[in-house]
Amino acid sequence: MLYIVSTPIGNLKDISLRAIEILNSVELIAAEDTRRTNVLLMHHDITNRLISFNDHNKEKTTPRLIQLLKQNKDIALVSDAGTPGISDPGFYLVREAVKENIQISPIPGPTAMISALICSGLPTDKFTFYGFLPKSTKKKIDIFNSLKTKKETAIFYESPYRIIKTIDVMNEIFPEKNIVLARELTKKFEEFMYGTVNELYKKLKDKTIKGEIVLILQ
Ligand code: SAM
Repeated sequence: MLYIVSTPIGNLKDISLRAIEILNSVELIAAEDTRRTNVLLMHHDITNRLISFNDHNKEKTTPRLIQLLKQNKDIALVSDAGTPGISDPGFYLVREAVKENIQISPIPGPTAMISALICSGLPTDKFTFYGFLPKSTKKKIDIFNSLKTKKETAIFYESPYRIIKTIDVMNEIFPEKNIVLARELTKKFEEFMYGTVNELYKKLKDKTIKGEIVLILQ
């Protein structure tokens, strides 16, 4: 069995009893960031074998993992934080496992986009998750133009280094749309900023923003 195990997005206590059980019992844990996963394992007194599975080695590592799975060994996949497969290399391994008819099972838990959405106060009945916004301003403009008249809630991941520029671009296209900036969820400096794009732009344009960010727009 390949277990897709969700892990905390900040607060190390945000892990299910079943996730702890599975992480203890599998043959090995494939982790996107072995150092970060080690901190989690130590916190919960889990001792198990870790191997690295990330964007740089996924093509090379996947055949080895598939081989072990075919020998009826159980493997847990964890990402550096949150739910594997959501804007991280998890999808690659899952797709290969599906092709090989390997059983796959989810161990659900935190994911940054859903944590942000449920506190946004913006409609949750219908939403689109765009993953990471592209770095290029031109590509951002194309995405934002396509959203100009849409009422559906849109969710993005964005780097703190590009966030002010991104809100600046949004402000040029739809200053009156509602936006929520969710930062450092479940961590010490967790913060939600609510308002219109223009209000947020005015508030942040001369500031530096740190930490991990989810943007929600409607
Ligand atoms: N698999 C993860 C999940 O389930 O959300 C996402 C991985 S993606 C590589 C990392 C991005 O998720 C960050 O750059 C940020 O946009 C968002 N993120 C992760 N943790 C977060 C947190 N605690 N607060 C806000 N955003 C977070």
